[in-house]
Amino acid sequence: MSQAADFTEIRYERPAEPVARIVLARPDKRNAQDMKMLYQLNKAFDRAAQDDTVKVIILSADGPHFSSGHDLSDFGSQVGEHGAPITGGGGFARPGPEGYMAREEEIYLGFCWRWRNLPKPTIAQVQGKVIAGGLMLVWPCDLVIASEDAEFSDPVVAFGVNGHEFFVHAWELGHRKAKELLFTGDSIGALEAKELGMVNQVVPRDQLEAFTLQMAQKIAKRPSVGLRFAKMSVNQSLEAQGMWTAVQSAFNLHHVAHAHNWVLHGRVVDPAGADIVRREAKAGRKSQETTPALPPADQ
Ligand code: ZN
Repeated sequence: MSQAADFTEIRYERPAEPVARIVLARPDKRNAQDMKMLYQLNKAFDRAAQDDTVKVIILSADGPHFSSGHDLSDFGSQVGEHGAPITGGGGFARPGPEGYMAREEEIYLGFCWRWRNLPKPTIAQVQGKVIAGGLMLVWPCDLVIASEDAEFSDPVVAFGVNGHEFFVHAWELGHRKAKELLFTGDSIGALEAKELGMVNQVVPRDQLEAFTLQMAQKIAKRPSVGLRFAKMSVNQSLEAQGMWTAVQSAFNLHHVAHAHNWVLHGRVVDPAGADIVRREAKAGRKSQETTPALPPADQ
């Protein structure tokens, strides 16, 4: 089977030497992640990591939006259907919270932590909306290059959970902004994300691809061993501050919340959340259309 034929939800490209680019290719679904896409992504990351002719990896997305998060229509897929499990934990098909937690530990927490620790620099190239599980693809990358229209949100507190499953919010945004993002469900724009240190550079939409590739090529001029150990050193400095323990702790609470919602609502999330998020998104769009930006209050 050719390399290209391995992938249907993503593309694996070599836009320039020695750079690999992995592209989310479900723009009709706003690049929502189903299990098939996540296993293909993992396979593509492995391919890039294990190919010694690749020094830097870009993760980009087709269409106007980087990713709208998990594909909620994909609850029927079973771990193992689209590739060998990576966490080795098993128990994926067990009934109740045990099986559901094992599933999310594999396809969300497990993949994110794995991608975060790939031995080569990774750059997320981001445009448009990045919602909830979409952040789980951006945050494991080493650098984030965003276009001016990029915006980031995690509105899932409305669904009765603490946030998406790779809970590095406070590490990415600082603790106060992380709480605002989670409590309100509001988006953070590209420039604000840059001020917060979550985004490295913001560029016009039409320059996003070229700028990102240029940065990847500049990085690739350094020896791979220096890049690999620089990455490990920064990552390990965060781990020394307790990052991995904190992420696991939040993941455990996330599954208390799923179990809670199952008892109360018969579903892993509070079904009222969809209406809240939809209503607020609609109100936000309407105010953008009808209300010009107000000058600061004169006081
Ligand atoms: Zn979950």
